[in-house]
Amino acid sequence: MTCGACCATFRVSFYWGETDDSYFGTVPQQLTQKLNHQRVCMSGTNQKQPRCVALVGEVGQEVSCSIYQQRPSPCREFLANQDGVNPDCDKARARYGLVPIHVIDIEPSNGEQEIVA
Ligand code: SF4
Repeated sequence: MTCGACCATFRVSFYWGETDDSYFGTVPQQLTQKLNHQRVCMSGTNQKQPRCVALVGEVGQEVSCSIYQQRPSPCREFLANQDGVNPDCDKARARYGLVPIHVIDIEPSNGEQEIVA
């Protein structure tokens, strides 16, 4: 909701069968780019300054995925690094000057975010 750094850092590639060109696929094919006979990627992510075409908003401020329900498997499997198991999350956030997510503690009592590490 507020980050989106991974959507604007990595190439998001996956098997073409996840697109709606396939009977069981969900990802809108027109939002993808063909890489080879087997694989496609989200348009906009196969460039020097990646940014997925489905990403709406400003990274680190307020973002959303315009195809959230139909997003491809890499997006479903990429975990926010809340417990230190996904350093790629930290790398993506660092590109945008954001601290690793696991050093942010959300205080429900006052709604403010606090750095605790
Ligand atoms: S499809 Fe959605 S979740 Fe996946 S990279 Fe694009 S904006 Fe991010």
